[in-house]
Amino acid sequence: MPRNPPIPAPIVLTTTRTNAQAAQIVYGLDLRGIIATVTANPLRSKDPIAIVLTKGDEAMARAAIESIWDALLESTPRAWDLNGNCFFCGYDITGLMTPAICPECGHELDSIAARRAASEGRID
Ligand SMILES: [Zn+2]
Repeated sequence: MPRNPPIPAPIVLTTTRTNAQAAQIVYGLDLRGIIATVTANPLRSKDPIAIVLTKGDEAMARAAIESIWDALLESTPRAWDLNGNCFFCGYDITGLMTPAICPECGHELDSIAARRAASEGRID
């Protein structure tokens, strides 16, 4: 008797905190011809929601996720506070070039992860 092939692990493209964000991400992927679904997050992470690839190329989907997050985080172009200080450690980063790594704490301040943390007001 041939055994059934193993069920592949879900390809989690990204995780989110809110259903509204999840819907925006799925819509953005759909516009790019990538079909994804919203599920409970199977990963160990603080985000309760996961976006899982259903149909489409994984590399293309990951590239699309970067640009979708970039658009969603448009109002947070860098992980800094209103005074121009590093969101994570408070170091004055107003003079730093883009992309920037905080010289005090080492965070990549222009990364999606850092910008998300700043926009959501959380230090993980
Ligand atoms: Zn810092």
